[in-house]
Amino acid sequence: MSEEILRFLREHRSISKTNNLWKFNDSIHFRPLNESLHICSENLEDHRQFLQDKPRSDYGQLPVIYFVTPTYPRREQIPELTRLAHTLLHIPRLHWLVADDQEKCNNFIDTLLNRFGIPFTHLMSPMPSKFRNEKPAPRGVANRRAALQYLRQHNLTNGVLYFGDDDNTYDLQLFSEIRNTQRVSMFPVGLIADYGVSGPVVRKGKVVAFLDSWVAGRRWPVDMAGFAVNLEYMAQYPYVNMPYKPGYEEDLFLRSIGLKMDMIEPRGNNCTDILVWHTQTKSKKLGMIRLESKYLDDRSNLGALLLNLKLMGVASTTENEGRNALISKNGKEKPHSIILS
Ligand code: UDP
Ligand code: MN
Repeated sequence: MSEEILRFLREHRSISKTNNLWKFNDSIHFRPLNESLHICSENLEDHRQFLQDKPRSDYGQLPVIYFVTPTYPRREQIPELTRLAHTLLHIPRLHWLVADDQEKCNNFIDTLLNRFGIPFTHLMSPMPSKFRNEKPAPRGVANRRAALQYLRQHNLTNGVLYFGDDDNTYDLQLFSEIRNTQRVSMFPVGLIADYGVSGPVVRKGKVVAFLDSWVAGRRWPVDMAGFAVNLEYMAQYPYVNMPYKPGYEEDLFLRSIGLKMDMIEPRGNNCTDILVWHTQTKSKKLGMIRLESKYLDDRSNLGALLLNLKLMGVASTTENEGRNALISKNGKEKPHSIILS
Protein backbone atom coordinates (compact mmCIF):
# COMPACT_ATOMS: atom_id res chain seq x y z
CA MET A 1 0.00 0.00 0.00
CA SER A 2 1.38 3.38 -0.89
CA GLU A 3 2.40 5.97 1.65
CA GLU A 4 -0.05 8.31 0.07
CA ILE A 5 -2.98 6.00 0.74
CA LEU A 6 -1.90 5.28 4.29
CA ARG A 7 -1.74 8.98 4.98
CA PHE A 8 -5.18 9.40 3.55
CA LEU A 9 -6.61 6.59 5.66
CA ARG A 10 -5.17 8.08 8.81
CA GLU A 11 -6.87 11.35 8.06
CA HIS A 12 -10.24 9.85 7.08
CA ARG A 13 -11.29 7.43 9.75
CA SER A 14 -14.66 6.64 8.25
CA ILE A 15 -12.96 4.35 5.76
CA SER A 16 -12.53 0.63 6.27
CA LYS A 17 -10.90 -2.09 4.24
CA THR A 18 -12.65 -5.32 3.18
CA ASN A 19 -11.39 -7.76 0.56
CA ASN A 20 -9.01 -5.26 -0.86
CA LEU A 21 -11.79 -2.75 -1.41
CA TRP A 22 -12.02 0.56 0.34
CA LYS A 23 -15.36 1.25 1.89
CA PHE A 24 -16.32 4.85 2.42
CA ASN A 25 -18.84 6.44 4.71
CA ASP A 26 -21.33 6.63 1.87
CA SER A 27 -21.02 2.84 1.51
CA ILE A 28 -19.55 2.92 -1.97
CA HIS A 29 -16.52 0.74 -2.59
CA PHE A 30 -13.39 2.06 -4.16
CA ARG A 31 -9.97 0.75 -4.80
CA PRO A 32 -7.03 2.84 -5.95
CA LEU A 33 -6.59 3.01 -9.70
CA ASN A 34 -4.06 0.58 -10.99
CA GLU A 35 -4.14 0.92 -14.77
CA SER A 36 -1.26 0.07 -17.01
CA LEU A 37 -0.45 3.09 -19.08
CA HIS A 38 0.36 2.98 -22.75
CA ILE A 39 1.40 6.23 -24.40
CA CYS A 40 1.28 6.04 -28.21
CA SER A 41 2.79 9.47 -28.74
CA GLU A 42 3.09 12.78 -27.06
CA ASN A 43 4.02 16.31 -27.99
CA LEU A 44 3.86 18.80 -25.17
CA GLU A 45 5.14 21.76 -27.13
CA ASP A 46 2.58 24.34 -28.12
CA HIS A 47 3.11 25.15 -31.80
CA ARG A 48 0.36 27.69 -32.04
CA GLN A 49 1.42 31.31 -32.39
CA PHE A 50 -1.88 33.10 -31.99
CA LEU A 51 -4.95 32.19 -30.01
CA GLN A 52 -8.13 34.23 -30.28
CA ASP A 53 -6.18 37.01 -32.03
CA LYS A 54 -3.53 37.26 -29.31
CA PRO A 55 0.02 35.92 -29.25
CA ARG A 56 0.41 32.78 -27.17
CA SER A 57 2.69 34.57 -24.71
CA ASP A 58 -0.21 36.83 -23.65
CA TYR A 59 -1.77 33.88 -21.87
CA GLY A 60 1.29 33.49 -19.64
CA GLN A 61 0.62 31.53 -16.54
CA LEU A 62 -3.04 30.61 -16.86
CA PRO A 63 -3.77 27.25 -15.19
CA VAL A 64 -3.57 24.42 -17.71
CA ILE A 65 -6.79 22.67 -18.70
CA TYR A 66 -6.31 18.90 -19.04
CA PHE A 67 -8.96 18.04 -21.58
CA VAL A 68 -9.57 14.28 -21.51
CA THR A 69 -11.17 12.85 -24.62
CA PRO A 70 -12.15 9.20 -24.80
CA THR A 71 -12.46 8.08 -28.40
CA TYR A 72 -12.93 4.78 -30.23
CA PRO A 73 -12.59 3.46 -33.75
CA ARG A 74 -15.67 3.86 -35.89
CA ARG A 75 -16.51 5.62 -39.13
CA GLU A 76 -17.05 8.97 -37.40
CA GLN A 77 -13.85 8.95 -35.31
CA ILE A 78 -11.58 11.11 -37.48
CA PRO A 79 -14.29 13.66 -38.36
CA GLU A 80 -15.22 13.97 -34.66
CA LEU A 81 -11.60 14.48 -33.58
CA THR A 82 -11.06 16.97 -36.39
CA ARG A 83 -14.10 18.99 -35.37
CA LEU A 84 -13.12 18.94 -31.71
CA ALA A 85 -9.52 19.90 -32.53
CA HIS A 86 -10.76 22.99 -34.33
CA THR A 87 -12.52 24.08 -31.17
CA LEU A 88 -9.50 23.33 -28.99
CA LEU A 89 -7.20 25.21 -31.38
CA HIS A 90 -8.65 28.41 -29.92
CA ILE A 91 -7.90 27.48 -26.34
CA PRO A 92 -4.62 28.57 -24.73
CA ARG A 93 -2.83 26.52 -22.06
CA LEU A 94 -4.56 23.27 -22.87
CA HIS A 95 -3.17 19.74 -22.77
CA TRP A 96 -5.31 17.36 -24.81
CA LEU A 97 -5.32 13.79 -23.53
CA VAL A 98 -6.75 11.64 -26.30
CA ALA A 99 -7.37 8.10 -25.08
CA ASP A 100 -8.27 5.62 -27.77
CA ASP A 101 -10.35 2.55 -26.96
CA GLN A 102 -8.42 0.01 -29.00
CA GLU A 103 -5.67 -2.57 -28.74
CA LYS A 104 -3.11 -0.89 -30.94
CA CYS A 105 -1.87 2.63 -31.50
CA ASN A 106 -3.44 4.31 -34.49
CA ASN A 107 -0.63 6.16 -36.31
CA PHE A 108 -3.11 8.11 -38.35
CA ILE A 109 -4.28 9.77 -35.14
CA ASP A 110 -0.68 10.64 -34.18
CA THR A 111 -0.18 12.40 -37.48
CA LEU A 112 -3.47 14.20 -37.12
CA LEU A 113 -2.75 15.38 -33.56
CA ASN A 114 0.75 16.55 -34.47
CA ARG A 115 -0.66 18.61 -37.29
CA PHE A 116 -2.83 20.74 -34.96
CA GLY A 117 0.05 21.98 -32.80
CA ILE A 118 -1.98 21.61 -29.60
CA PRO A 119 0.03 19.97 -26.78
CA PHE A 120 -1.27 16.41 -26.64
CA THR A 121 -0.80 12.93 -25.28
CA HIS A 122 -2.22 10.04 -27.25
CA LEU A 123 -2.99 7.06 -25.02
CA MET A 124 -4.09 3.59 -25.94
CA SER A 125 -6.70 2.36 -23.47
CA PRO A 126 -8.84 -0.56 -24.65
CA MET A 127 -11.99 -1.46 -22.77
CA PRO A 128 -11.30 -4.74 -20.89
CA SER A 129 -12.74 -7.52 -23.07
CA LYS A 130 -15.10 -8.76 -20.35
CA PHE A 131 -17.11 -5.52 -20.69
CA ARG A 132 -17.20 -5.44 -24.49
CA ASN A 133 -20.39 -7.39 -24.92
CA GLU A 134 -22.22 -5.99 -21.94
CA LYS A 135 -25.32 -3.96 -22.62
CA PRO A 136 -24.93 -1.19 -21.74
CA ALA A 137 -21.14 -1.27 -21.90
CA PRO A 138 -19.03 1.15 -19.85
CA ARG A 139 -18.28 3.51 -22.74
CA GLY A 140 -15.14 5.59 -22.45
CA VAL A 141 -14.37 4.42 -18.92
CA ALA A 142 -11.09 2.58 -19.58
CA ASN A 143 -9.98 5.69 -21.48
CA ARG A 144 -10.78 8.11 -18.68
CA ARG A 145 -9.19 5.80 -16.13
CA ALA A 146 -6.02 5.75 -18.21
CA ALA A 147 -6.02 9.55 -18.31
CA LEU A 148 -6.48 9.72 -14.53
CA GLN A 149 -3.57 7.33 -14.18
CA TYR A 150 -1.49 9.54 -16.46
CA LEU A 151 -2.21 12.62 -14.34
CA ARG A 152 -1.30 10.61 -11.25
CA GLN A 153 1.90 9.14 -12.61
CA HIS A 154 3.09 12.49 -13.90
CA ASN A 155 2.23 14.11 -10.60
CA LEU A 156 0.17 16.78 -12.35
CA THR A 157 -1.41 18.58 -9.45
CA ASN A 158 -1.78 22.02 -10.97
CA GLY A 159 -4.54 22.94 -13.35
CA VAL A 160 -8.02 21.74 -14.12
CA LEU A 161 -9.38 18.41 -15.35
CA TYR A 162 -12.29 18.26 -17.75
CA PHE A 163 -13.80 15.17 -19.40
CA GLY A 164 -14.70 16.17 -22.96
CA ASP A 165 -16.12 13.42 -25.17
CA ASP A 166 -15.23 13.47 -28.83
CA ASP A 167 -18.80 14.03 -30.03
CA ASN A 168 -19.94 16.94 -27.82
CA THR A 169 -20.09 20.59 -28.86
CA TYR A 170 -18.13 23.08 -26.77
CA ASP A 171 -18.61 26.83 -26.57
CA LEU A 172 -15.29 28.69 -26.25
CA GLN A 173 -16.68 30.46 -23.20
CA LEU A 174 -16.78 27.10 -21.37
CA PHE A 175 -12.99 27.09 -21.12
CA SER A 176 -12.82 30.52 -19.45
CA GLU A 177 -15.51 29.41 -17.03
CA ILE A 178 -13.80 26.23 -15.89
CA ARG A 179 -10.22 27.47 -15.88
CA ASN A 180 -10.40 28.97 -12.40
CA THR A 181 -12.13 26.01 -10.77
CA GLN A 182 -11.09 25.89 -7.10
CA ARG A 183 -12.42 22.43 -6.32
CA VAL A 184 -15.34 21.32 -8.50
CA SER A 185 -17.29 23.58 -10.85
CA MET A 186 -20.60 22.61 -12.46
CA PHE A 187 -22.83 23.90 -15.24
CA PRO A 188 -25.76 22.67 -17.34
CA VAL A 189 -25.28 20.42 -20.37
CA GLY A 190 -27.69 20.81 -23.29
CA LEU A 191 -29.34 18.00 -25.24
CA ILE A 192 -29.32 15.48 -22.40
CA ALA A 193 -32.06 12.83 -22.45
CA ASP A 194 -35.76 13.69 -22.17
CA TYR A 195 -35.50 17.25 -20.90
CA GLY A 196 -32.83 18.29 -23.35
CA VAL A 197 -30.80 19.46 -20.39
CA SER A 198 -29.14 18.26 -17.20
CA GLY A 199 -27.63 20.52 -14.59
CA PRO A 200 -27.55 22.01 -11.12
CA VAL A 201 -30.40 23.92 -9.47
CA VAL A 202 -28.92 27.12 -8.06
CA ARG A 203 -30.37 29.37 -5.37
CA LYS A 204 -28.65 32.51 -4.12
CA GLY A 205 -25.48 31.56 -5.96
CA LYS A 206 -25.29 28.05 -4.41
CA VAL A 207 -26.01 24.65 -5.91
CA VAL A 208 -28.88 23.13 -3.91
CA ALA A 209 -30.13 20.26 -6.11
CA PHE A 210 -30.10 18.87 -9.66
CA LEU A 211 -32.39 18.78 -12.65
CA ASP A 212 -31.95 15.54 -14.60
CA SER A 213 -34.55 13.11 -15.95
CA TRP A 214 -32.72 10.03 -14.62
CA VAL A 215 -31.96 10.00 -10.90
CA ALA A 216 -31.59 6.28 -10.11
CA GLY A 217 -30.17 6.97 -6.68
CA ARG A 218 -27.35 9.10 -7.99
CA ARG A 219 -26.22 11.70 -5.49
CA TRP A 220 -24.58 13.63 -8.34
CA PRO A 221 -26.94 13.17 -11.30
CA VAL A 222 -24.81 15.12 -13.76
CA ASP A 223 -23.34 14.45 -17.18
CA MET A 224 -19.64 13.79 -17.69
CA ALA A 225 -19.38 17.11 -19.55
CA GLY A 226 -21.11 19.04 -16.76
CA PHE A 227 -18.25 19.53 -14.32
CA ALA A 228 -14.55 20.33 -14.00
CA VAL A 229 -12.15 19.48 -11.19
CA ASN A 230 -9.14 21.26 -9.78
CA LEU A 231 -6.13 18.92 -9.81
CA GLU A 232 -4.67 20.12 -6.56
CA TYR A 233 -7.97 19.33 -4.91
CA MET A 234 -8.20 15.93 -6.64
CA ALA A 235 -4.67 15.03 -5.55
CA GLN A 236 -5.86 14.86 -1.95
CA TYR A 237 -7.89 11.79 -2.83
CA PRO A 238 -5.60 8.82 -3.49
CA TYR A 239 -8.55 6.57 -4.32
CA VAL A 240 -9.82 8.74 -7.18
CA ASN A 241 -11.62 6.33 -9.44
CA MET A 242 -14.17 5.86 -12.15
CA PRO A 243 -15.71 2.41 -11.76
CA TYR A 244 -16.94 0.39 -14.76
CA LYS A 245 -20.57 1.00 -13.88
CA PRO A 246 -22.58 2.34 -16.82
CA GLY A 247 -24.73 5.30 -15.89
CA TYR A 248 -22.97 5.82 -12.59
CA GLU A 249 -19.53 6.94 -13.81
CA GLU A 250 -20.00 10.61 -12.97
CA ASP A 251 -21.63 9.95 -9.60
CA LEU A 252 -19.00 7.49 -8.44
CA PHE A 253 -16.12 9.58 -9.73
CA LEU A 254 -17.41 12.62 -7.85
CA ARG A 255 -17.96 10.54 -4.73
CA SER A 256 -14.42 9.23 -5.00
CA ILE A 257 -13.13 12.78 -4.66
CA GLY A 258 -15.23 13.52 -1.60
CA LEU A 259 -17.51 16.08 -3.21
CA LYS A 260 -19.89 17.95 -0.90
CA MET A 261 -22.79 20.09 -2.11
CA ASP A 262 -21.45 23.33 -0.64
CA MET A 263 -18.15 22.95 -2.49
CA ILE A 264 -19.72 23.14 -5.93
CA GLU A 265 -18.97 26.31 -7.86
CA PRO A 266 -21.81 27.10 -10.28
CA ARG A 267 -20.63 28.42 -13.65
CA GLY A 268 -22.23 29.83 -16.78
CA ASN A 269 -24.12 32.74 -15.24
CA ASN A 270 -25.23 30.72 -12.24
CA CYS A 271 -26.07 27.75 -14.45
CA THR A 272 -28.35 29.63 -16.80
CA ASP A 273 -26.20 29.40 -19.95
CA ILE A 274 -25.52 26.28 -21.98
CA LEU A 275 -21.82 26.13 -22.80
CA VAL A 276 -21.63 22.46 -23.75
CA TRP A 277 -23.97 20.26 -25.76
CA HIS A 278 -24.33 16.51 -25.68
CA THR A 279 -24.55 16.22 -29.45
CA GLN A 280 -24.47 12.69 -30.77
CA THR A 281 -23.50 11.51 -34.20
CA LYS A 282 -25.54 8.91 -35.98
CA SER A 283 -23.37 5.88 -36.32
CA LYS A 284 -23.30 4.00 -39.60
CA LYS A 285 -21.58 0.86 -40.68
CA LEU A 286 -18.26 1.01 -42.50
CA GLY A 287 -18.63 1.78 -46.19
CA MET A 288 -17.71 -0.92 -48.67
CA ILE A 289 -16.51 -0.06 -52.16
CA ARG A 290 -15.99 -2.76 -54.77
CA LEU A 291 -13.10 -2.02 -57.07
CA GLU A 292 -10.43 -4.30 -58.50
CA SER A 293 -7.10 -3.75 -56.74
CA LYS A 294 -5.33 -3.35 -60.06
CA TYR A 295 -6.96 0.09 -60.32
CA LEU A 296 -5.64 1.22 -56.92
CA ASP A 297 -2.30 2.37 -58.30
CA ASP A 298 -1.10 5.88 -59.09
CA ARG A 299 -2.80 6.13 -62.45
CA SER A 300 -5.55 7.98 -60.59
CA ASN A 301 -6.18 9.51 -57.16
CA LEU A 302 -8.43 6.63 -56.15
CA GLY A 303 -5.67 4.40 -54.76
CA ALA A 304 -4.44 7.04 -52.32
CA LEU A 305 -7.92 8.33 -51.52
CA LEU A 306 -9.33 4.92 -50.71
CA LEU A 307 -6.25 4.01 -48.70
CA ASN A 308 -6.76 7.16 -46.60
CA LEU A 309 -10.38 6.25 -46.02
CA LYS A 310 -9.30 2.80 -44.92
CA LEU A 311 -6.74 4.25 -42.47
CA MET A 312 -9.39 6.57 -41.08
CA GLY A 313 -11.76 3.66 -40.59
CA VAL A 314 -14.38 5.16 -42.90
CA ALA A 315 -14.59 2.78 -45.84
CA SER A 316 -12.86 -0.28 -47.14
CA THR A 317 -12.21 -1.29 -50.70
CA THR A 318 -12.85 -4.87 -51.70
CA GLU A 319 -12.60 -6.95 -54.86
CA ASN A 320 -15.79 -8.90 -54.48
CA GLU A 321 -18.04 -7.49 -51.75
CA GLY A 322 -20.17 -4.39 -51.36
CA ARG A 323 -21.47 -2.06 -54.02
CA ASN A 324 -19.62 -1.77 -57.24
CA ALA A 325 -17.71 1.53 -57.41
CA LEU A 326 -19.95 3.67 -59.60
CA ILE A 327 -17.83 5.86 -61.81
CA SER A 328 -19.64 8.20 -64.15
CA LYS A 329 -18.96 10.85 -66.72
CA ASN A 330 -21.47 13.16 -68.39
CA GLY A 331 -24.23 11.58 -66.35
CA LYS A 332 -23.46 8.04 -67.50
CA GLU A 333 -21.85 5.17 -65.70
CA LYS A 334 -18.53 4.19 -67.26
CA PRO A 335 -16.69 0.86 -67.05
CA HIS A 336 -13.69 1.04 -64.71
CA SER A 337 -11.41 -0.04 -67.52
CA ILE A 338 -12.31 3.03 -69.62
CA ILE A 339 -11.57 5.63 -66.92
CA LEU A 340 -8.84 3.93 -64.91
CA SER A 341 -6.73 1.87 -67.33
N1 UDP B 1 -16.37 5.60 -26.34
C1 UDP B 1 -15.32 4.70 -26.19
N2 UDP B 1 -15.56 3.36 -26.44
C2 UDP B 1 -16.80 2.89 -26.79
C3 UDP B 1 -17.85 3.80 -26.93
C4 UDP B 1 -17.60 5.16 -26.68
O1 UDP B 1 -14.21 5.09 -25.89
O2 UDP B 1 -16.93 1.68 -26.99
C5 UDP B 1 -16.11 7.03 -26.09
C6 UDP B 1 -16.73 7.97 -27.13
O3 UDP B 1 -15.80 8.28 -28.16
C7 UDP B 1 -17.12 9.20 -26.32
C8 UDP B 1 -17.39 8.62 -24.94
O4 UDP B 1 -16.74 7.37 -24.87
O5 UDP B 1 -16.06 10.14 -26.26
C9 UDP B 1 -18.88 8.43 -24.66
O6 UDP B 1 -19.42 7.60 -25.66
P1 UDP B 1 -20.68 8.04 -26.55
O7 UDP B 1 -20.48 9.42 -27.05
O8 UDP B 1 -20.93 6.99 -27.54
O9 UDP B 1 -21.80 7.98 -25.44
P2 UDP B 1 -23.06 8.92 -25.19
O10 UDP B 1 -23.02 10.06 -26.14
O11 UDP B 1 -24.21 8.02 -25.45
O12 UDP B 1 -22.94 9.33 -23.79
MN1 MN C 1 -21.53 11.17 -26.85
